[in-house]
Amino acid sequence: MRVRAALLDADLGFIADGVLSWDATGALTEVGAYQGGPVDEDRRGELLTPGFVDAHVHAPQTRIIGRATGPLLDWLATTTFPEEARFADAGHANDVYARFTRALVRSGTTAACVYGSSHPTAAGALFSALDSAGLRAIAGPVWMDEGAPSPLCVAPEVSRDTVLALRERYAAHPRLSVAVIPRFALSCSSRAMALAGQLAAEHDLLCTTHLSENLGEVQAVRERFGNDYVDVYADAGMLGRKTVLAHAIHLTERDWRRLSDGGVIIAHCPDSNAFLGSGTFPWTAARDHGVRVALGSDVAAGRSFRMGFAAAYTYDNALRDGATLAPIDLFAALTRDASAALGLPGGRLALGRPADVVAWPMPPWADDADAVLATLLFDADAPVASATWISGRRVWTDDGRPWWSVVREPIAR
Ligand SMILES: [Zn+2]
Repeated sequence: MRVRAALLDADLGFIADGVLSWDATGALTEVGAYQGGPVDEDRRGELLTPGFVDAHVHAPQTRIIGRATGPLLDWLATTTFPEEARFADAGHANDVYARFTRALVRSGTTAACVYGSSHPTAAGALFSALDSAGLRAIAGPVWMDEGAPSPLCVAPEVSRDTVLALRERYAAHPRLSVAVIPRFALSCSSRAMALAGQLAAEHDLLCTTHLSENLGEVQAVRERFGNDYVDVYADAGMLGRKTVLAHAIHLTERDWRRLSDGGVIIAHCPDSNAFLGSGTFPWTAARDHGVRVALGSDVAAGRSFRMGFAAAYTYDNALRDGATLAPIDLFAALTRDASAALGLPGGRLALGRPADVVAWPMPPWADDADAVLATLLFDADAPVASATWISGRRVWTDDGRPWWSVVREPIAR
């Protein structure tokens, strides 16, 4: 068998020709070149990486990937809101969420910040699906009480109670926690926004929403609230270190200073920004203001669950904005840095860390770090993960079936 040099970086880590073992708690006890003796997984011939983190994804939009009805506000009204309204039906929610979780682990994503639909019952279904799939997630229902069709609108007190119930139910869960997710300013009344900000602060919960994605949206926020977009969230007490703001494209210098002072995290969603014609993310402004940036697939405005594509489009976006990113930094953004920003325990192949690991097929010429990163992040035709583990549990083995397939129990005779 062809032997490759180990590519282990002590701080970051991806390994060619490696083996894996873990203990009863799912923490890594061995990772790297084979030293002899029994191991839990022999993945020599493949590449091992930490699992990827998707900082922004919408589970109820799983079936509408690629629906070309943008820009943003048209896409929401024509395609997204009608699909999300179907999640009032628990059977529909269970079915779609099973496909959603399969799509994540197949893509090498082991942790995600997940938006649900607005329905309390579907929020329960989302948590059950994430739990059975073995995923690590920060998730919750989206809060919407106006600016959307009435079947999607839920009183903010009900959204608050749903979050509190999930918080209690999953308080001791090793992988799942609940987030406060006011969808965006246009779908929330001032009261909903205030309640959401208050709830997140009181219980120290992660709070996530969309910010300044599209110029029509920015204008509508100004007309509705008589205020700048960032001010609307600042007024609700939502600009803190546990706040994740998706997109953040159309911002002033003053906005950037406020985001920087608040210590927020931006979820940069480059494919979605392109597909909905939202614009180029000002990468250099975020960098110059020291604002943390994680990457999101933003399915279904993003057209793939694969975070390698998000990294590739981030590279393209940054070039348009005058910055050249190093592939290794993009890899860090998907793993170590996103885990640290979201307070997740994975992100590194290091002893004692959770065995959140992905095995990837590699072409024969990928024999140094540059070639490995080229395949992993930039080759759109490279295969999906061959296997994925979370806390040592195998949650995915490539079976060649389409991503939307779910395994059904065989009919008993
Ligand atoms: Zn989004």
